[in-house]
Amino acid sequence: MKILVCISNVPDTTTKITFTNENKEFNASGVQFIVNPYDEIALSKAIDLCEGGKGTVTVINVGDSSTEPTIRKALAIGADDAVRIDSTPRDAYFTAFQIAEYAKQNDFNMILCGRESIDYNGAQVAAMIGEFLEIPSVSIIKKLDTDGTTTTIEREIEGGKEIVSLTGKFVASCAEGVAEAKIPNMRGIMSARTKPLAVVAAQEVKLLSKVISFETPTPRGTVKLIEAENAENLINLLHTEAKVI
Ligand SMILES: Cc1cc2nc3c(=O)[nH]c(=O)nc-3n(C[C@H](O)[C@H](O)[C@H](O)COP(=O)(O)OP(=O)(O)OC[C@H]3O[C@@H](n4cnc5c(N)ncnc54)[C@H](O)[C@@H]3O)c2cc1C
Repeated sequence: MKILVCISNVPDTTTKITFTNENKEFNASGVQFIVNPYDEIALSKAIDLCEGGKGTVTVINVGDSSTEPTIRKALAIGADDAVRIDSTPRDAYFTAFQIAEYAKQNDFNMILCGRESIDYNGAQVAAMIGEFLEIPSVSIIKKLDTDGTTTTIEREIEGGKEIVSLTGKFVASCAEGVAEAKIPNMRGIMSARTKPLAVVAAQEVKLLSKVISFETPTPRGTVKLIEAENAENLINLLHTEAKVI
């Protein structure tokens, strides 16, 4: 079994977000990047499925050379090898196209993504890969079991569960529950240094979107604390200031 896991290089969750170039670009200066947390779940599941020589796990990232520490982290967690499509991803269509083109040349049984990247939060790449490759795509999955031919996937839906059965190749975007995220150990970190990391040129593709501008949310207003015994004052403020009653 050959599994391709898509890895996004995202800012650490504690990053203070700022923009450059007239608010058209994210300011990456001084930012610590990490493996997208949902991709760690996808990767951990792939490693579990391939345990005991049952298969191999390749991680793929669309990004420039600055993403290599993140790719090495994925190798340290347990991927067998890695591919970096050398470019700056400008939108989800571009990213999915590059991954699909690579997958067309290299035969994978399944492609696992995270449910969304925690930076641009598009939740689009997995479905687009499915479209480009003309294979089924299942989004926001919670459980996956496979015997190598038939795969059973569980999704959470409003008020219940959806069980999906698939045969053949597919792409799925993984959410919490699919696997326990693995932490790299010292052996993994050492071996990651020498695991293969291929750098592949990006394919020509037209961009379908461009950023007009980014903006951060309006800061929240200050908090007014009202003594518990002063309910009358609270009602008055809700009526006259907040105008909600
Ligand atoms: C208008 C626009 C402008 C952008 N400009 C820049 C830019 O200047 N520089 C920059 O670095 N990024 C830029 N990005 C972000 C970059 O294009 C994203 O990698 C891409 O859009 C996917 O993000 P998403 O939120 O749609 O991914 P989602 O669809 O939310 O991601 C789902 C999953 O897809 C996979 N995935 C996502 N991105 C990648 C990737 N790059 N490589 C491998 N797998 C991946 C992961 O498994 C991830 O969990 C831009 C995005 C947009 C929409």
